[in-house]
Amino acid sequence: MTTEVSEMDSPALMKVSNLVKHYGDVRAVDGVSFAVPKSEVFTLLGPNGAGKTTTLEILEGIREADAGEIEIFGERVRRVDRAVKERIGVLLQEGNFEPYLRVREVLSLFASFFRSARSPAEMLKAVALEEKANALVKTLSGGQKQRLAIGVALINDPELVFLDEPTTGLDPQARRNIWSIVSGLTASGKTIILTTHYMDEAETLSQTVCIMDHGKVIAEGTPRELTSRLGQDTIVEFVAPAEAGLPAALGDRVRVARGEGGLVSVTTGDLVSTLAGLLDWSRSSGHALAEMTVRQPNLEDVFLSLTGRRLRA
Ligand code: ATP
Repeated sequence: MTTEVSEMDSPALMKVSNLVKHYGDVRAVDGVSFAVPKSEVFTLLGPNGAGKTTTLEILEGIREADAGEIEIFGERVRRVDRAVKERIGVLLQEGNFEPYLRVREVLSLFASFFRSARSPAEMLKAVALEEKANALVKTLSGGQKQRLAIGVALINDPELVFLDEPTTGLDPQARRNIWSIVSGLTASGKTIILTTHYMDEAETLSQTVCIMDHGKVIAEGTPRELTSRLGQDTIVEFVAPAEAGLPAALGDRVRVARGEGGLVSVTTGDLVSTLAGLLDWSRSSGHALAEMTVRQPNLEDVFLSLTGRRLRA
């Protein structure tokens, strides 16, 4: 599906139309269009290999597209040049800093690349690394390294910030620290383009989510708009051993799927009847409905319903 660029309520800081990038036979980006509203977190959500990084690299000026149009800061550009780069910030997926530099030195070094930059002291505060100012990069934890990388991405006080998978591999506390920094950025007027394959990250941070798969945008909207596509469905999940089989006779409006670790997901349009049926099944089969939860659909369920696959395969 190709999503046409549409006029949005808030002015778009960036518009992309029919972007294409092939690597040999691989159609990494296959006709992608979207508009990024100002002062929002705009997220490209998709599994590994969906084309998110390639799309970002084109918009960051690291790669050239085979075809397509890019409009940024109100101007149509053939490719992202030096003048545009002064106004954007980039967190690369695999950023590594010299391990024997100190945190403050890394920020000073990157500040020197720009005509106008914020002071290292300001950035240390913004990413909560003041206590680590004199620490060597190699002594930082994964979360601290990532906060330093975000500090570097913000050093030129950019209007538009690209964050490519900012929390991959981080523990839950470190992820939440990064989320709070990202939320603070939009509150101060910055626009963020984020990529992630974590549906909870997309749901928590984004105003707009573009779901990508196989180089294409397959759905776009607010997290609520996307999940409401699944209608009034409710999902009941519990853990049961494989030999328990799957509950039968729950009615027509129910989809039952088995996931990792014995997780059984029952999607239902009639919660009361489904719960009654599950309790009957539990009583007659002797299998407990272990760790049972009842929840509304999330973006993972949207992806599953669109592609038949899970985001994190
Ligand atoms: P990930 O989350 O793993 O980074 P992604 O959604 O960012 O995935 P891309 O990295 O853009 O996806 O990759 C899209 C497709 O293009 C994949 O099939 C990938 O193997 C391929 N690809 C990416 N970079 C190159 C390259 N430099 N040369 C050849 N193929 C590439």
